[in-house]
Amino acid sequence: MSKVAQSERIHIAFVGKRNVGKSSLMNKIIGQELVIVSATPGTTTDPVKKAMELLPFGPVVLIDTAGLDDAGELGEKRISKTIKTISESDFALLVLDSQEKLSEKEKFLIAHLKKLELPYLAVINKSELGINYELVEELIRLGIKYHTVSCVTCDGIFELKEKISQMLPLDEQLPLVSDLIKQHDVIVLVVPIDLGAPKGRLIMPQVQTIRESLDVDAIVVITKDKELRGALNKLSQQPQLVVTDSQAIMRVSADLSDEIPLTTFSILMARYKGDLAEYVRGLKKIEELNNGDKVLIAEACSHHAQEDDIGRVKIPRWLRLHTKKNLEIDIVSGHDYPENLSEYKLIIHCGGCMLTRRMMQMRIKQAKMLGVPIVNYGIAISYMHGAVPRALLPFDEAIAAWNEITNIII
Ligand code: SF4
Repeated sequence: MSKVAQSERIHIAFVGKRNVGKSSLMNKIIGQELVIVSATPGTTTDPVKKAMELLPFGPVVLIDTAGLDDAGELGEKRISKTIKTISESDFALLVLDSQEKLSEKEKFLIAHLKKLELPYLAVINKSELGINYELVEELIRLGIKYHTVSCVTCDGIFELKEKISQMLPLDEQLPLVSDLIKQHDVIVLVVPIDLGAPKGRLIMPQVQTIRESLDVDAIVVITKDKELRGALNKLSQQPQLVVTDSQAIMRVSADLSDEIPLTTFSILMARYKGDLAEYVRGLKKIEELNNGDKVLIAEACSHHAQEDDIGRVKIPRWLRLHTKKNLEIDIVSGHDYPENLSEYKLIIHCGGCMLTRRMMQMRIKQAKMLGVPIVNYGIAISYMHGAVPRALLPFDEAIAAWNEITNIII
């Protein structure tokens, strides 16, 4: 199987009531018994994920979810996990029992999928037992695309894979950096190797920036912040772009003449996964924070926190220093993203390199719907260090948003 990061794969959620055959269907599509299948309703508790190549489409992640009619207090928790999984998926398979009509839970699910504007396909399972044509009529009346399968005889499984492949949303193929440079341009990447840097490797935004730059035949120069000046002196021409780690932005900015375009890996990632203009607009809130206001710092993965960790230590420190306010700061990581965001006055989110674009977009949409401003680490750090608007200059949409919040036209 090709090595594609989970965050770059299309996520497909298998949803429906208990015992309609979600796990069996996922196993049939994968071609192995990954998920435990039982006739006892509710065997799948937490979402089960499996990365695979779905031919003819390509790399995907399949997610089996708990039944929507799961019972009891624990059941409710599983249902809310299932709803969260759906929100973060790119496509859903709504698995139905061929013997039944649409239940209230399934109608709720259909309405939810519609609200999320999530593309989906209804899969009528257990066709070996015959089909309740009232179910088919209902789906047709609601304009829902469906496909019939049997996980016992495997009828319709091959065709289902083909149908899913045709319906999956195509990757938007947004550029990380390739639209900012061209063939033979020199791009300098500043990568500080400090305590916070992972041992023996580069992080994903750095690797992706190198790869995209090479893809456009640009010349890539990589240096640590301490060696930047020396590296620039050795070049026979000025670089067309410099990209730095956010934490070194002030030092790098001081070493570069003003006409050299400068940005950060985090700002590149903010545009690639998130919404650059929305994050820039969120900066305004930093100036409006008051004593006692709650700020959420959110990291999309749980990594081992360093002594002077960026999210847990540095950003809270810089924020309190910058605002001179006594703020209440909550820090969450991994999947612990809070459902109730309305108690926060500001969200500062990490680059989200481990999230799919849709997951990051959902988080932004959620914040916007509740009127909570959101910024990302890199933009907030550059701003608090005085490197904004310089680090935003390569991006028209970011500058337009900056002009909007400052009323100063650049
Ligand atoms: S998901 Fe967020 S916290 Fe995790 S490595 Fe990526 S940017 Fe950092």
